[in-house]
Amino acid sequence: MNLKKFNEHVMLTYNRSDLEFVKGKGAMLYTASGKKYIDFLAGLGVANLGYNHPVITQTAGKALSRPLHVSNLFKISPQAEMAAIIQKHTFRGRTFFCNSGTEANEAAYKLALKYGRSIARDKIQILSAVKSFHGRTLASLALTGQPKYQESFKPLPGRVKYFKYNNLKDFKKKINTRTAAVFIETVQGEGGINIVQEKFLKTIRKLCSQYKALLIIDDVQAGCGRTGELFSFLNYQLKVDAFTAAKGIAGGFPAGCLTVRDKYKNILKPGDHASTFGGNPFVTAVGAAVVKETAKTSFLKQVKIKGNFIKDKFSAWQKELDYISDIRVMGMMAALDLKKPNAKAITAACLKKGLIVNAIGTRTIRLLPPLVIGIINLEKGLNILHKIIKRQGND
Ligand SMILES: *Cc1c(COP(=O)(O)O)cnc(C)c1O
Repeated sequence: MNLKKFNEHVMLTYNRSDLEFVKGKGAMLYTASGKKYIDFLAGLGVANLGYNHPVITQTAGKALSRPLHVSNLFKISPQAEMAAIIQKHTFRGRTFFCNSGTEANEAAYKLALKYGRSIARDKIQILSAVKSFHGRTLASLALTGQPKYQESFKPLPGRVKYFKYNNLKDFKKKINTRTAAVFIETVQGEGGINIVQEKFLKTIRKLCSQYKALLIIDDVQAGCGRTGELFSFLNYQLKVDAFTAAKGIAGGFPAGCLTVRDKYKNILKPGDHASTFGGNPFVTAVGAAVVKETAKTSFLKQVKIKGNFIKDKFSAWQKELDYISDIRVMGMMAALDLKKPNAKAITAACLKKGLIVNAIGTRTIRLLPPLVIGIINLEKGLNILHKIIKRQGND
């Protein structure tokens, strides 16, 4: 890797490691010099099927022989295939395709505004949770309940009010007849793997119906099999009006989508919203195959088993080490909080030992392993992390 060239030419919008991976297989990544890493991050929740998955490589190979891109002025049958599989496992409706999570939420935001306006001129208020993450474009950034990301870019599109996650009393104060939609993640990923309480979610549903507000689930991170169901809200008997997905939805190719219930399929009309690349034939061909693979009962079952394996390990560590103050696990989304601000040091130490984990803030370690990781590598990686946490706690 020519680091000098990289640093001279690529905009510095990320804190990057100097490592570069040139090969991947399953849940393993390799550098050019052949050093091997167990990946507990999956490219931030994208490589759910790991690296070099035969379903992805074979589908992509076939899709390469057809036009890579045609415009959305023509029919693209892989879009229909992907949308049909998504709806088969969720609800009857329609899917809009775009290229990322932030764009999917942008589309949902526009849907909500147009929906609200169709009822009353001032029904354009949106509710979103404190510590949520919905993306970096201006509207999705407005939805993101984290002031540290918003400060330099104000004024943001207005109309968003924030409620405290899992706090019904606060939520009830915020919702009213002018609320057009409520955006929520069932597991706040970037916010630190905060898991929604079922009762909170169900009450939100009731209040949304009462106030004619759309309940929109942002399943960009918690979707695509991550929680042990194809989409996270399928863990609950929950009627959602719309949901967004991206990250793992096309196995690593850029894709995002918004799916709405039948009842709301005609809100966005020709001319209201569009994307040149959205639903590209190549990407949706792979996406359809990825969703099909991920939706298999046997696949989802092993996600739950491995999620429980992580949970059991974390519980044992928490009992053993006073240094761990909290653990949160939902499927294969996992986090542990540390009593000291050592998250970055632990991440760096893990990397040295061949394990990729992620720090959120200074006290939280997040794991999002590829869902296909073998139990042996999962245990190996957890053992590395355990050893390092134990050592840091004793320092
Ligand atoms: C990552 C993420 C997004 C943003 O997705 P991008 O593809 O980076 O635009 C939105 N919502 C959630 C919950 C996410 O985790």
